[in-house]
Amino acid sequence: MPGKSPSRSRAGRLVVLGGAGRATDRVGEVWLVGAGPGDPELLTLKAFRLLQSADVVVHDRLTPQPILDLAGPRARLIDVGKRKSRHTLPQDDINALLIGLAREGLKVVRLKGGDPFVFGRGGEELLACRAADIACHVVPGVSAALAAGAAAGVPLTHRGLAQSVTFVTGHGASGGEPDLDWAALAWANQTVVIYMGLSTAPAIVARLIEAGRQPSTPALVVESASLPLERRLVTTLAELGARTEGLEGPAVLIVGEVAALADILTPDVFTNPAQAAEAVPQGSSGKRNGRA
Ligand code: SAH
Repeated sequence: MPGKSPSRSRAGRLVVLGGAGRATDRVGEVWLVGAGPGDPELLTLKAFRLLQSADVVVHDRLTPQPILDLAGPRARLIDVGKRKSRHTLPQDDINALLIGLAREGLKVVRLKGGDPFVFGRGGEELLACRAADIACHVVPGVSAALAAGAAAGVPLTHRGLAQSVTFVTGHGASGGEPDLDWAALAWANQTVVIYMGLSTAPAIVARLIEAGRQPSTPALVVESASLPLERRLVTTLAELGARTEGLEGPAVLIVGEVAALADILTPDVFTNPAQAAEAVPQGSSGKRNGRA
């Protein structure tokens, strides 16, 4: 139950996983828990406590090991990104797994990167649990856009530069380009953060420019935000497609006047010095700003 201390109350009623007897007299529950962008220190205290007290942790392939290491000793870890032929388990199967585990009376932590409700399909898992009459609680996490802005010293909103921020997906529901309101996203003085946009970046750039966003609009790419291999790149909208080529991700693309603040507020914009030398835009004095 939210607000209570499930770890304490459940400790004495430990369910033996894989044991012959099923804990049918106990009511299990599912916690959709945001794991944040990767740095374990960006977990919420609640996420940490739940990891410690979970009977089972269901996680994705990219969940960093230091976060999984925080699970309590009794927790069974299930990787739903590494099943048969290394394909991610289909969403319906993940839903069924969560429900099945909860029906065994287990406290299930479904660990999701960033925030469960930001491009995380957490809503689908919540609805599936509800339909199956399984209690399901949600713990927010630090979403990648927030970690990326923080890492680069780029406020996603900033007085005079961005009155709004919009998170968009770079992928359409059935693959390919997303179907977005490009005209609305092309307005100046707003920030657009693109998730899952590496492969579609050239198309997204073309759409934004066609819709009227200035090609010179500052842009920032943050790869592996908050992780040891984090890389940041400041560029322009016009250059964004070309500059993201070859990046493996995960990465967010931040388009908007605020991206110019990266070199002003953080002297060390680039974590990777080799990339830094290569990536400084021509003619940049390191003092660009987005007001021009
Ligand atoms: N629920 C997650 C997003 C899942 S979609 C969240 O709230 O962050 C997966 C996309 O998130 C990736 O393609 C990438 O665009 C972004 N992402 C996730 N982790 C990231 C990280 N550490 N650095 C940069 N982008 C990241």
